[in-house]
Amino acid sequence: MEKKSYESQILHTAYTKEDAYHSLSMPVYNTAAYEFATAADMEAAFCGRVAEHTYSRISNPTVHYFEKRVQEVTGALSVTALNSGMAAISNTLLNVAGAGLNIVTSPHLFGNTYSFMVNTLRGFGVEIRFADLTKPEEAARMMDDKTCALFLEIITNPQMEVADLKALSAVCREAGVPLIADTTIIPFTAFSAKAHGVDIEVISSTKYISGGATGIGGLILDHGTFDWSRSPRLAEKAAVTGNQTAFTVRLKAEILRNLGTYMTPQVAYMETLGLETLDLRYRRQAATTLEVTQHLQELPQIVRVNYTGLKNNPYYALSCAQFGATPGAMFTMDLSSREACFNFLDRLRLIRRATNLFDNKSLALHPASTIFGTFTPEQRQSMDISQHTIRFSIGLESAEDILADITQALQ
Ligand SMILES: *Cc1c(COP(=O)(O)O)cnc(C)c1O
Repeated sequence: MEKKSYESQILHTAYTKEDAYHSLSMPVYNTAAYEFATAADMEAAFCGRVAEHTYSRISNPTVHYFEKRVQEVTGALSVTALNSGMAAISNTLLNVAGAGLNIVTSPHLFGNTYSFMVNTLRGFGVEIRFADLTKPEEAARMMDDKTCALFLEIITNPQMEVADLKALSAVCREAGVPLIADTTIIPFTAFSAKAHGVDIEVISSTKYISGGATGIGGLILDHGTFDWSRSPRLAEKAAVTGNQTAFTVRLKAEILRNLGTYMTPQVAYMETLGLETLDLRYRRQAATTLEVTQHLQELPQIVRVNYTGLKNNPYYALSCAQFGATPGAMFTMDLSSREACFNFLDRLRLIRRATNLFDNKSLALHPASTIFGTFTPEQRQSMDISQHTIRFSIGLESAEDILADITQALQ
């Protein structure tokens, strides 16, 4: 198919085999296993000589169709769907890391990503090196021949820090280290990670893609841009599979199967529907967020509004260059105290008190007492988590109604 716009292309991906009933939507194949005509056919499928489904922990037609649609619009070398964003992150890092190797990252990470690195991976002998990733030279200094990845989030949550991806990607190229980015916060309809030098993209598809918080899911996109013969963990594999494909081959043939983290067909079906409206929802939510934050800046009760699309934000220029004028639908605001934050949340009427991001409904929470509530005060401080901050995710309501709710809750 010739290259069309996202909206057109995403709707018209054909599925591989004809359905018995010519269903216009991809059917949901709720099956664990697949039947074969002969023992020889079975052998061919199980030994990978033909691409047939055998067992749904390994592959499933409905999930594969979801992966294929994402692959068509992103041009990724491979797309792998998993049963959560955390599964995408953990499977990716387990694929490249090993005892004695190190990962360079920022202390500004999603709470469970931080915990996975510090509590889980460290226990298996992987060293975690925290750097200030707004300083690419600091990242470069921390890398050595045992560095297996540079991991970052494109806009950190909830600090809203933006890394200069082209600068960091240059550092990574020089050192022979893959750049792995969590791009959950800006969907691939609005931001090309590959064009910014990201080798492996991980996404919590629970967020924008699921189409209104319908289920938990994750994606790994391998852009085929890294030479895995330079990877301390995958060089041996690359000698067998080829330098471009070692990551994907091991991910799909070993890591995903052994950990049992493949997406389920019901979730894949709902997330496929989500893809069809993703760009529409994203553009509306992001535009509303810019409008709401511009108004909130004027209110005296708010100490600070943190959104990288605002002109006075320290990351404004970099954010515009990387993500355009409306960088996502998440922002934070600081009030005078923790009590002011709790009172504000308790008075909300339209905006829901809930975690999650990019639901169709607007959501708010106090990160320090929820997502980061079980961390020690020292950990919270090292991650720049303030007791004065409220995080918002803006939904599809009108900007007017959202502003009215925030304004009344501040009284
Ligand atoms: C939600 C989120 C995750 C984790 O995704 P789950 O689907 O909840 O496992 C990871 N990174 C970011 C930036 C997120 O917002």
